[in-house]
Amino acid sequence: MTNPKQYILSLDLGTTGNRAILFNRDGQIAGQAYKELTQYYPQPGWLEHDALEIWQDILSCIEKALQTTGTSASEIAAIGLTVQRETCLLWDKTTGKPLHKAIVWQDRRTAPLCRQLRRAGKDQLILDRTGLVLDAYFSATKLVWLLDWVKQNRPQTNLNNVIAGTVDTWLLWNLTGGKVHATDSSNASRTMLMNLEHGDWDSDLLELFDIPSHLMPEIRPSMGSFGTTDSEMFGAEIPITAIFGDQQASLFAHGCDRPGLLKCTYGTGCFLIVQAGRDIPRSSDRLLSTVAWTTAERANYALEGAMFTTGACIQWLRDGLQLISSAAETEPLARQVKDSNGVYFVPALSGLGAPHWDMSARASFQGITGGVKREHIVRAVLESIAYQVKEVVEAMNRDSDMAVARLKVDGGASKNDFLMQFQADVLGVPVERPTILDATAQGAAFGAGLASGFYPDYRELIAKRQIDRVFKPGDGASQALEHYRVWQKAVERAKGWVD
Ligand code: ADP
Repeated sequence: MTNPKQYILSLDLGTTGNRAILFNRDGQIAGQAYKELTQYYPQPGWLEHDALEIWQDILSCIEKALQTTGTSASEIAAIGLTVQRETCLLWDKTTGKPLHKAIVWQDRRTAPLCRQLRRAGKDQLILDRTGLVLDAYFSATKLVWLLDWVKQNRPQTNLNNVIAGTVDTWLLWNLTGGKVHATDSSNASRTMLMNLEHGDWDSDLLELFDIPSHLMPEIRPSMGSFGTTDSEMFGAEIPITAIFGDQQASLFAHGCDRPGLLKCTYGTGCFLIVQAGRDIPRSSDRLLSTVAWTTAERANYALEGAMFTTGACIQWLRDGLQLISSAAETEPLARQVKDSNGVYFVPALSGLGAPHWDMSARASFQGITGGVKREHIVRAVLESIAYQVKEVVEAMNRDSDMAVARLKVDGGASKNDFLMQFQADVLGVPVERPTILDATAQGAAFGAGLASGFYPDYRELIAKRQIDRVFKPGDGASQALEHYRVWQKAVERAKGWVD
């Protein structure tokens, strides 16, 4: 008798869009559907998502992926979730309605609260307990803001009915028909509320932020049991067996399970993560210590350099400035000119993350003269992505005894050949791009498939992955390095811009 289970369903809830992908027994993509997500910018530096839209969009993606491949829910062995991290919301568990839009990881509205906490000397406690640099990026201060908003604007709300979560928790709660309120350790480690050593909510931090513990989801291993989908939803109860933060999922997909192995994802932001193994790493260069993933038996940790706005700058060129009509257009435009004509862009649209951690930095173009054309501006923006990654690689090299010798990449913007070549040039090391660029979805599928027994062996899955192209440092390397030094000067000028 043939096994009726053909696929793992991976749900990838990214910052810019939601995707459902079916992975077959070979770890290859069998079908998928995608929907871009609306970005709400209510004020400068603020960014929100509509959690109900996320839920409805992913449902329609699942339906479409099943329909176009002629798959029924009973053919799905398990579901894996991977999500944009840190973004969080509050909802009423009796109605299932969010109390406010979700505050997205890039949102800077709580920078003043972070400054207040820093002045009160709380940054060291937070770093020691969570491995994170005190910053508005993480969920804790966003939850504080949401709770304050509810108290002020909806004073009649019964807080006993309210629960909190990151996007994975929201999705899981909905998929299980409200039965499971949980998250996994990799997402929890980004809230700035999880004790990295114990792997549980830190009671001192919950008290510091005045967040009632009953609001918080249960933290479970990234690979294990998260319940099943509600039987009425897809016509079959599908087990949910893995949840990863998006960057950790991509680390898993790249096969980076041993200390020193690393990858960089080029999505809305860029995230360079190096596997640290079983010991919690501690950086001297303001890189983050974080959970890579956990099973019931063990935890793996990682060191991370988070750069907030990279692909987001390309989206801004398209939607904000309307300088381009598609992200792909940046590549031929950048190739039309031999350099950026002296223009340097600092991509601090949401402040600067690693290695600067400056919430008050803002984006800027510098070095503009009369001869500068659209092509130069576009090229300067692409180059700035590679420069940021270079800075973080340098920080990683300072933090470890082994210099980065090769960069594995993935994510939407890694499609851009110009950017990847420029990246290899400025880094002086090869850049390796796999055939499947949806490494986040692939990682969640691998995790869910391994946890459910659908896939027998991790190493086998990794061995089957194919490399699309390796970009080697070329003729442009010395010029790229020279320009990188000038760009660093521009970064210094963009720092400390807003109070
Ligand atoms: P996320 O998971 O953060 O939503 P994705 O990995 O889906 O991100 O990548 C989307 C991002 O990649 C967008 O910000 C988009 O502007 C950028 N992008 C997509 N294609 C290209 C391209 N060809 N060149 C440069 N950037 C691109």
